[in-house]
Amino acid sequence: MARILVVGGVGYIGSHVVSLLMEAGHEVTVFDNLSTGLQANLFSENRLIVGDICKEIDIFSAMEGQDAVMHFAAKKAVAESMENPAKYARNNLIGTLNLLNAMDHHGVKYIVFSSSAAVYGMPDVSVVDENTPVNPINFYGFTKAEIEKCLQWYDRLCDIKFVALRYFNAVGYDMNRRSRGHEANPQNLLPIIIEVAEGKREKLKIFGDDYPTPDGTCIRDYVHVCDLAQAHLLALDKLMNGMDSQILNLGTEKGTSVKEMVTAVEEVLGKKLNVEIAPRREGDPACLIASAEKARKILGWKPQITDLHQIVKSALPEDL
Ligand code: UDP
Repeated sequence: MARILVVGGVGYIGSHVVSLLMEAGHEVTVFDNLSTGLQANLFSENRLIVGDICKEIDIFSAMEGQDAVMHFAAKKAVAESMENPAKYARNNLIGTLNLLNAMDHHGVKYIVFSSSAAVYGMPDVSVVDENTPVNPINFYGFTKAEIEKCLQWYDRLCDIKFVALRYFNAVGYDMNRRSRGHEANPQNLLPIIIEVAEGKREKLKIFGDDYPTPDGTCIRDYVHVCDLAQAHLLALDKLMNGMDSQILNLGTEKGTSVKEMVTAVEEVLGKKLNVEIAPRREGDPACLIASAEKARKILGWKPQITDLHQIVKSALPEDL
């Protein structure tokens, strides 16, 4: 049992991790500014501190007495990061530095950090391992790459051990519906398709069908949020048992095209969806699939929910 501060614990991935940490018997404190996370994602038993990592006083006082940190608090909309870099610099970069300084001040030695495949930008290879050059092409990815470098310095200078988990495309919700991880305004493919199915959006625009892939649409590696959450617990356990700092990809090593995802939703719901082919979106690589060999070897992590229909079912609202 450890005392864990889950920063951004009311958000999509954070709330799923909170549910597993509690199940494992940890003493969890959720720290969140409730800017995008919905309080509906919070378990009643959780201790919630409403605070902001951008305010040193908030995060310094929350850090007292903790054994470890899980850090999910970040802005994550790629397009917005290009239009409003200051927001991303403040929340992601400065906020995380405040958090690391608070850890150092209170002698908290372990952190699991949400990184992203966005650090790779447009890689030359389609199967990406951790040695693939880090070369972000948007400001969001840049903030994640810079934080990884800060973590390496704080390890060296302050002996704070970290695991940075580079998520590929997170999808789905808790199969048992304990945590829903709802988001106010989803921006990603599967939630958008589901909004089309619900009639909340008129149609899905497929961003390009002329890519060099079998059906012409982009291929991504969709990894279930519960599998991601599991990796955080494994990482924490290893860190607290003396493992060195690590940077690890988290993906299923399996590619799914946009059209395949649409078909999967149509099959599960038994109805056709309104879809239109639109121009390519800037900065979309044709194919991005993880090599997750390192996470498998180091953490013993293996994703369990890889069937597309199962993933889609977990993502559907109860009334659809
Ligand atoms: N996509 C799409 N229409 C949409 C949203 C996404 O065709 O309305 C495609 C996008 O081009 C990409 C894939 O779906 O190939 C996943 O996009 P998402 O924004 O979910 O994640 P990303 O891979 O950009 O992190």
